[in-house]
Amino acid sequence: MHSPFSRKLAHNSFCILSCQFIAAITSVFVVTMPGLAAEPGSLESHHKSARLVLANARKMIEPTLSPEELTIARSIVYRINGGPGIGAFAAYKDGRRLIVISAGMVQMFDWLYDLATIEFELSRKGCFQEYISYLEDGMIRNQKAIVNGLPLSPVKNPFTFANDTDGQCGRLTTADFIAIPDFGLNKAKAIEASIVFLYLHELGHHVLDHVLETKDRNARDLTKSRDQEDKADRYAVVTALGANYSLVPATPWYLYIAIFGGNSIEAENSASHPLGIRRILSVYDETIDYYDRDPQAWRGELSYQDLLAGLNEQRSQVRALLQSLDERH
Ligand SMILES: [Zn+2]
Repeated sequence: MHSPFSRKLAHNSFCILSCQFIAAITSVFVVTMPGLAAEPGSLESHHKSARLVLANARKMIEPTLSPEELTIARSIVYRINGGPGIGAFAAYKDGRRLIVISAGMVQMFDWLYDLATIEFELSRKGCFQEYISYLEDGMIRNQKAIVNGLPLSPVKNPFTFANDTDGQCGRLTTADFIAIPDFGLNKAKAIEASIVFLYLHELGHHVLDHVLETKDRNARDLTKSRDQEDKADRYAVVTALGANYSLVPATPWYLYIAIFGGNSIEAENSASHPLGIRRILSVYDETIDYYDRDPQAWRGELSYQDLLAGLNEQRSQVRALLQSLDERH
């Protein structure tokens, strides 16, 4: 069966939309370090990438904000957490606004990009699901270890996993990756866009006044918090486009929320984030709406018609991919 995650998608021809490169981050694809259980310091390259992208993203975005938004953005303390945790959040603590992005999250983006490449670009069918099951087990195990104060156990990256197991991932060499045209560049762009997405989503929570409201966590109801997640996503997309930056290449972020952000109805009922698939599709809806409303906003090389045709095609590819991921459950 033809994979819905077509070569095109894996290849980030996502850069059909302006795909500017704001930070020259290097993507190291062979990491021997253990993930999740990483010793402090071993996430150094991901920590550096996050810091660099965040600094450049702020330079790009802040001049495009309204005076009110800018005041809020400038009052935020931005922090990159070097620990093995995964995630990003916006908070209000001791009278200060805070945005925290973990270096572990950037490592996760790195791995998911490699994993998608192994499955779809290097045609190792079944590798994706096999690795995700392994990863989920490792995450659950380590979560329990943290709670019980036990040492964490290493989780392999997709490359090491492929070479250590006799499953669908098969044996791989670095040459397999190097042979893919522009692999490193496209991967760096995808990781960059994913970090920018995290930043703008959390900025959205501050600007849209979600953070102060959630101080009383008991008052948080599910429908409201899902609605806030959706609004923060849309804020991120539109704010990025206002700076002529597209979040469409953020494939590792899409994969992350498709896998961990509630890709089943059960998860949808229990999680505060809206169904992963819907979150991703709304990125496309919002992008397409943006250019529908204001064709002049498009400043790329492609014709406006080609842009919209490309976006619509990608949206259906993503829909098909996510539906196939959802069928695992
Ligand atoms: Zn959120």
